[in-house]
Amino acid sequence: MALEASALSRRDFLRAAGVLAAGMAVGVSGGDSPAGETSTLSDHLLVHHGPINVGIVRDGSRALLIDCGDGDVARSLESLKITSVDRILFTHHHRDQACGAAALAAGGAKIIVPDAERDHFDKVADYWNNPKSRWHIYSQHPHHLMLAEPVRVDATLKPGDTITWGPATIRAVATPGHTDGSLSYVVEVDGRRVAFSGDAIYDAGRVWEIHSLQKGTQTTDYHGFLGARPELVESLGRLKDAKPDVLVPSHGHVMPDPAGAIDLVVERLARCYDKYVAISALRHYFPKMFTEYADRKDHMVIRPGKPVPECLRHFGTTWVLVSKDGAALVMDCGSPAVIQKLKDLVAAGEIRAVEGLWVTHYHDDHVDAIPAFQKEFDCPCTTDAHVADVITNPRAWRLPCISPSLARVDRATRDGESWQWHEFKLTAYHFPGQTLYHSGLFVEGQNLRMLFTGDSFTMAGIDDYCTSNRNWLGSGVGFDRCLERIEELKPSHLFNCHVDVAWDFTPEECRFMRDNLAQREKLYGELVPWDHANYGMDEPWVRCFPYEQSAEPGKTVECAVVVTNHSSEPRTAACRAAVPRGWTAPSEWTKIEVPAKTEGTLRLSFGVARDAPPGRRVIPVDVRYGPWTLPQYTEAIVVV
Ligand SMILES: [Zn+2]
Ligand SMILES: [Zn+2]
Repeated sequence: MALEASALSRRDFLRAAGVLAAGMAVGVSGGDSPAGETSTLSDHLLVHHGPINVGIVRDGSRALLIDCGDGDVARSLESLKITSVDRILFTHHHRDQACGAAALAAGGAKIIVPDAERDHFDKVADYWNNPKSRWHIYSQHPHHLMLAEPVRVDATLKPGDTITWGPATIRAVATPGHTDGSLSYVVEVDGRRVAFSGDAIYDAGRVWEIHSLQKGTQTTDYHGFLGARPELVESLGRLKDAKPDVLVPSHGHVMPDPAGAIDLVVERLARCYDKYVAISALRHYFPKMFTEYADRKDHMVIRPGKPVPECLRHFGTTWVLVSKDGAALVMDCGSPAVIQKLKDLVAAGEIRAVEGLWVTHYHDDHVDAIPAFQKEFDCPCTTDAHVADVITNPRAWRLPCISPSLARVDRATRDGESWQWHEFKLTAYHFPGQTLYHSGLFVEGQNLRMLFTGDSFTMAGIDDYCTSNRNWLGSGVGFDRCLERIEELKPSHLFNCHVDVAWDFTPEECRFMRDNLAQREKLYGELVPWDHANYGMDEPWVRCFPYEQSAEPGKTVECAVVVTNHSSEPRTAACRAAVPRGWTAPSEWTKIEVPAKTEGTLRLSFGVARDAPPGRRVIPVDVRYGPWTLPQYTEAIVVV
């Protein structure tokens, strides 16, 4: 995190924001200021700056809070001599906003939430027990930053609802985008108008992260990179129209110039989306999604297809390589129809034998029928080690489009490993394109240089429409690495599992895409407060491994927390489990230093309550990372 909030700029800001009390610091939440500061916006309106900013409307010794975060606000309440929290208005349901709610509710605070998100407060088990939240994930809404335990809801608010409390009038404004039902609250008190905007905006030109804006427009959320952008832009317009003097975000800096801050976010979002569209593979699949970009001369021209060599068959998401003597190497098996088709080809004498299975990546439409395939055909299964990690143990992962099907992998390949298969030389690659857990297979023979890219490219560009697939930006990672490989291998034919024809890319097109990615790294980086764009994009940069496991009551559970340091410097990471009541966990934090651009692994262990009832339990994990304090930032699932 850049140290932009210097002492001087804070003081300037204080003046600009019209903050009253001298000596009060003005704040930032999320970690780049000491937690626990309070700023005074007017006599009756204050902000606590902890892991998130918490609005405090005071009326004598009573308070109304806007969001409560993890409860760290208690420190400000104490110093302000506020003895009771009368009610809490929530902007949205995320755990980092609301994980302290249950304790405050038990103390008598009334819980008031956006009507559209009510179930995400008091019926969270519906989400956690829904198989759709766990397997074949094509919807990112609602997000799994959902409360682990339900909290009682006393009332809900709809857009336009107004309440008066003590000296304040508070109006709810619809600001969906970060979540579908987000509300902002415009507080009028002491002659000032202050908007508490949740996570709609972080500060001038920035949002807390990018991945929550994943949302489907014409298809599922899965294809909707920045799909919530139009909705967010409208929301920000409504906030601007409310003409607040000051904007207070949940994560981020208090904004003294709301209109300027909002305009810059809108402008940056448009620029980021334009760079995305310029080389998006989706222009091949869903041209209607991009009609307004149709004539853009500065976007990559979509390549024509070329005929498929005779040694290949294509059905479903499967390519089959057939040798001169009739042996078949099958790539992926997403449905029983593929197995039937292979049996038909064998029966018709077109294929002599199915001799091998190669897996391009872990997505369900490529692996669902592998167990059935492996019963039917006795042949080795080979894939890149990253893919093997997921498909041989899917329960340990929470990723988009994940399948519960358990595959057997007989050989996990290293990057660049070659072997001979009949007249073809095969070379396996780790190919972190459409997902991080993805392989590439380069096939040389019959005067062909064929690269099977799984789902990573179409003739229109790169398949990076779902941030949770972990498309890292940066030199030598993600699609940049895949393109580097294409430049080096110079394939005569490229293949995608979902595209019937072959194609190739010119060196100029590879260069164009790599340049675009380099520009994105910068532009997306500017849009988020983190010191690298990937933190805003790569939702599982902190993840539990295994994601899900079973445990008996009274037993100890071991779990790793894997942290990807996307920064160019080492970072200190720490975590602890926020276990349910009756469970045991050390209160100390486990800490490690993670070198730049690497993964670090922290070890957690906690005890299941002796009387824990059977069922799925969510174990949130508190994270500290560099300057950031991130309550309940990720979770593991324990099935008792
Ligand atoms: Zn949030
Ligand atoms: Zn895929």
